[in-house]
Amino acid sequence: MLRANQSIVIHAARDLRLESRDIVKPGPGEVLITVQAGGICGSDLHYYQHGGFGPIQLREPMILGHEVSGLVAALGAGIDNLEIGQLVSISPSRPCHSCSYCLQDQKNHCLNMQFYGSAMPFPHIQGAFQQQLIAGATQCVRAEGLTASQAAMAEPLAVCLHAIAQAGDLRGKTVLITGCGPIGCLSVLAARHAGAARIVATDLSDYTLKMALICGADLAFNTLTAPSALQPYQAEKGQIDIHLECSGAASALAAGVACLRPSGTLVQLGLGGDMNVPMQAITAKEITLRGSFRFHAEFRAAVALMQEGAIVVDQLITHSFGMDALTEAFETATDRSQAMKVQLRF
Ligand code: ZN
Repeated sequence: MLRANQSIVIHAARDLRLESRDIVKPGPGEVLITVQAGGICGSDLHYYQHGGFGPIQLREPMILGHEVSGLVAALGAGIDNLEIGQLVSISPSRPCHSCSYCLQDQKNHCLNMQFYGSAMPFPHIQGAFQQQLIAGATQCVRAEGLTASQAAMAEPLAVCLHAIAQAGDLRGKTVLITGCGPIGCLSVLAARHAGAARIVATDLSDYTLKMALICGADLAFNTLTAPSALQPYQAEKGQIDIHLECSGAASALAAGVACLRPSGTLVQLGLGGDMNVPMQAITAKEITLRGSFRFHAEFRAAVALMQEGAIVVDQLITHSFGMDALTEAFETATDRSQAMKVQLRF
């Protein structure tokens, strides 16, 4: 039997614990959420497998998780757009709304960002994998018509919508997507919705490539077993208009640059640390290189696109585990030969 407000706390690599946390009353403008579903993200896995990534390392216990949905359980003062019992997607993006970037509508660059489940600042920002979660009402987006599982996909979809916005107009374009985990596959869906004419996907796993095809990629190449598969796209200085790099692997970035046509655009959204970049080719082909980091306004758009049925994410939710199967859930999520998005039930 689980005790009240069980939370999933990472202490160090492979040291994941269920711990009880106090249930707090929502203050003014806040909501108490009974969390329903939570997706395990690549960053959660980095904390689980390695205790962090690059310079971002755990220095104290931290509740994981930032892809959650839940039911409104209690309302603080001053909230009139939410009702008790309602399903909401909860944005983990908590900017301060008052720093220079927030005031310039660049909220994903907030100087005081309190993004759930991040060891970037110290003290770390505690995450959302809790049975009872306090959230700001402005983080909550009504998710009528969606299941709790679907509503928990708003966050990774928002990441991809933000990347698509960095890429510019996709209509009629040939798009290369490298790395076909959940972000790559959601990028396939988002690129198709944005009007891409042709989508080419690459990965090192046949399973994820099959998922990319199910999501609407036209062609999918395993660059491990067919290393020269992209060579035809290098013809006449390059055949690809836009490259969405989702793997964080320098080799995938370099392969994409070789295939981009002059004046093409490379959007890097995979987090691979400090990657080597083929700068000579980027210069000579006048390629636009853009980073893409998190999102803000796109969260609401992600919920709406799923509600309209314009983007369907169900096929990507491959596993769901209860909190009593934590280790199994995280181990399954690390296995790209059989799992896409693994979610937890709270
Ligand atoms: Zn700010």
